[in-house]
Amino acid sequence: MTFLRITQIKLPIDHTQEDLHRAVAQRLGISPCGIRTMQVRRQSIDARKRGMVFFVYTLDVELASGTTPSGSCPYTLSPHLEYTPPPRVVKPPSPRPVVVGAGPCGLFAALILARAGYCPLVLDRGKPVDLRTRDVQRFWETGILDPESNVQFGEGGAGTFSDGKLNTGIKDRNNRCRKVLTEFVAAGAPEDILYVSHPHIGTDLLVSVVQNIRETITALGGEVRFQAQVTGLRLQNGRLCGITINDHEEMDVRHLVMAIGHSARDTFALLKDAGVALAQKPFSLGCRIEHPQSLVDRALYGRDAGHPRLGPAPYKLVHHARGGRSAYTFCMCPGGQVIAAASGPGEVVTNGMSLRARSGKNANAALLVGIQTSDLQGDDPLAGVAFQRQWETRAFELGGADFHAPAQLVGDFLQGVGSRVLGEVLPSYTPGVRLCDLRSCLPEYVRATMQEAIVALDGKLKGFALPDAVLTGVETRSSSPVRILRDERLESVSVKGLYPAGEGAGYAGGITSSAVDGIRVAEMVARKLNHAQNH
Ligand code: FAD
Repeated sequence: MTFLRITQIKLPIDHTQEDLHRAVAQRLGISPCGIRTMQVRRQSIDARKRGMVFFVYTLDVELASGTTPSGSCPYTLSPHLEYTPPPRVVKPPSPRPVVVGAGPCGLFAALILARAGYCPLVLDRGKPVDLRTRDVQRFWETGILDPESNVQFGEGGAGTFSDGKLNTGIKDRNNRCRKVLTEFVAAGAPEDILYVSHPHIGTDLLVSVVQNIRETITALGGEVRFQAQVTGLRLQNGRLCGITINDHEEMDVRHLVMAIGHSARDTFALLKDAGVALAQKPFSLGCRIEHPQSLVDRALYGRDAGHPRLGPAPYKLVHHARGGRSAYTFCMCPGGQVIAAASGPGEVVTNGMSLRARSGKNANAALLVGIQTSDLQGDDPLAGVAFQRQWETRAFELGGADFHAPAQLVGDFLQGVGSRVLGEVLPSYTPGVRLCDLRSCLPEYVRATMQEAIVALDGKLKGFALPDAVLTGVETRSSSPVRILRDERLESVSVKGLYPAGEGAGYAGGITSSAVDGIRVAEMVARKLNHAQNH
């Protein structure tokens, strides 16, 4: 069946399905009844002109037999969207492949291996998501942290308590990005993630989505074990031959996917001690900034702000500062909340999340400044971890050493004075914030770049420099400060059989790109194992 791809169909936000049908027919120069089926492939919002907000569509259209589009109509044939999985293996290999980490990267690596008959074992140091949710809630309410069950560790990985944004900058010619989205939908995510330009799931739905992915893996012959931390690697002549779990259980392993995320600092140290090649990599540091969502909506949608079909407005901003550094907003959560995202004692780390409805009063985003490897002291591959820890510890102390986060009003931050009372914006971080002067928990160049950026960004999003907006610190875990070096076959350059993958290994950033990296690594492992079985 041939589908035609039609792009740039622009309609007012109040349009009906019939309006869309008519617009497509008009574009094709045919009568509306000449359209047999029509599928939206992309829906984006064009809000470049305030007060004139439009939806813009890309669609795949199947014509009724005998209908031909007018010669002058611009269209292309719909691209192939199917993902080609690795071939099924005749019998599961022994020992079976092991995936460390049940975050998006590890789960998708395991899913692909399980679908191809490899019966993978997944190990995660944290708990299944229902128990983990309880631990995380307790931490947010009381400040009692479980270092093995928190926002970073456990089923679903770091992305579980998140906004569940799925957009990614990566381009993948093999349809792996779409594969990730279709698997999420099969696991219970809303179908609109397949076509909206800023797809998002929301924490409340993500919890059951990751559970369903785990159940699919086990139904296909895989196994998922929780509270199973990899604490040792056994190597022979530069090749992996086994692992230790929880310091006492030995297991023979020949193919190990390391999808450990960016917060497994003890596991990074273990890899370093085992002689696995690691390198420093750039990352970012800054604070969360919170505004009223209504302010953001007004700034971006003008008189259409609050329209139910638009939902709360997202933003993404960047400012290149005079000193050569840049500040940018990251992981913006419309109608979301700022969360405590620490994974260890004595550290305060912020991040953001939202529910599917994004119905919170505030908008939040990280406001970050890039940290280069030249900003770090020494050439230890884990110098970036030490740097993150230094500022997280300062934030912990400044917050009162009980997981309250240090916070400051934007107006005071710009004037360089400590804050004493909140204004119209109530911070959403729990267990709570302590108002202070954030200067002592930020490197001076980060503070200066953020200050300049906030003023400049007010010119792009009116109200960004609102004096009552709240900055909460510190945000240190937007990406990994370490790269676990791998070759073109995605295998560690120093240890055969070890496959560093995902965000922690430095090859992805965000849910979708981490999942895609997991798929790529799974394909490579499958190829290796298949080759070994056939020879
Ligand atoms: P992770 O998700 O970090 O998973 C790693 C897993 O490995 C963890 O479950 C951990 O328990 C396990 N592990 C670590 N060490 C060991 C060990 N030694 N043995 C066994 N298990 C181990 N990205 C987006 O794209 N959109 C968003 O909206 C978004 N919001 C976010 C909100 C928050 C609060 C956070 C923290 C992150 C957010 N991110 C978001 C980033 C996203 O979550 C990560 O990019 C993604 O989860 C990385 O996937 P991963 O599988 O590589 O690693």
